Amino acid sequence: MENVIIIGSGPAGHTAAIYTARASLKPLMFEGMMAGGIAPGGQLTTTTEIENFPGFPEGISGPLLMERMREQSLKHGARMATETVLRVDLSRRPFRVVTEAGGEMEARVLIVASGATARRMHIAGEDKFWQRGISACAVCDGALPLFRGKVLVVVGGGDSAIEEACHLSKYAAKVILMHRRDELRASKAMQDRVRANPRIEIMWNTLPVEAYGDKFLAGLRVKDVKTQSSAELACSGLFYAIGHAPNTVFLGGQLDLDDAGYIRTVPGTTQASVAGVFACGDVQDRKYRQAVVAAGSGCMAALDAERFLNDH
Ligand code: FAD
Ligand code: NDP
Repeated sequence: MENVIIIGSGPAGHTAAIYTARASLKPLMFEGMMAGGIAPGGQLTTTTEIENFPGFPEGISGPLLMERMREQSLKHGARMATETVLRVDLSRRPFRVVTEAGGEMEARVLIVASGATARRMHIAGEDKFWQRGISACAVCDGALPLFRGKVLVVVGGGDSAIEEACHLSKYAAKVILMHRRDELRASKAMQDRVRANPRIEIMWNTLPVEAYGDKFLAGLRVKDVKTQSSAELACSGLFYAIGHAPNTVFLGGQLDLDDAGYIRTVPGTTQASVAGVFACGDVQDRKYRQAVVAAGSGCMAALDAERFLNDH
């Protein structure tokens, strides 16, 4: 019987682990085994430099930041299992947690910090060229020889799309940022970055509809969403940066979700719709989705969990 089980290992999960461990609750974290296609440590392991996490004036690499958080969790007594949670039973307390490896255990309190996963467009030809020219992580794949010196396309208009385009511009002959509207969603600072980069060209009001090639991606059929006209665009890489879906499948519909699939929590708290279940980080945050916010809500979940255990 565990006091606290934490599901997920991004900034939210690790902050919850540090706080609950320091409160002598001996938390057990399931950090996931490529759950949702993401390594333990979460989304920041797929990026390069983090410049906006307080305490690192020179910036810090995403993977290193997560390694340091993990070290801090362990140092204070949190336990880690590199396993993915397959399902949970929230119908009674203690809650039951079942892992993909077949493990089963019970917990008085659950902290859900399972984050979010990159979305794909599922265009024609996507399965054939997945990892043969199509990817959802420029930072992970951009330096591969098949992309060097080539024309590459990034789809999306948010901060991720710009970050990915800027990263790819270091290797590519040209990067085309393809966006479905005529205005970027990204922050002003990121927009300035893309406009200052001579290797990035923005293609407005356009979407890819089909990928073609022989063994590797050679081009895309693209559609102008205003005129509906289509054209062919020769390119060797297509990178999706169209946002993320919250990782909630293992919850089996037992918690209330909003219309976009994010866990609903009582405003101002991390309390989910079942008493004793707390949600933090991107899995419950459709608005901010920033590492420091995820960490802050992980702290809230830990304090909420501690109070709940004291009261029950
Ligand atoms: P996540 O980081 O999503 O981690 C969740 C973890 O839980 C994952 O490892 C996942 O595999 C695991 N998991 C999922 N399901 C299960 C399960 N069933 N069982 C066990 N484990 C599971 N934010 C910033 O503030 N600054 C930045 O510079 C910045 N750059 C970014 C760059 C990119 C490319 C991306 C994609 C995001 C960036 N963000 C940035 C956003 C930031 O990464 C997220 O806000 C933050 O990581 C969310 O943390 P989290 O703890 O909620 O979850
Ligand atoms: P966002 O949700 O912010 O942006 C997604 C983009 O993809 C939007 O431009 C959207 O278009 C487009 N899009 C969505 N669905 C489709 C589709 N089916 N077809 C074509 N285009 C589509 O996600 P991000 O991943 O960019 O950012 C997530 C969070 O992470 C944000 O809070 C962001 O600030 C943060 N982040 C911060 C960074 C930083 O601070 N350095 C770096 C990276 C991410 P539309 O605009 O029309 O809706």
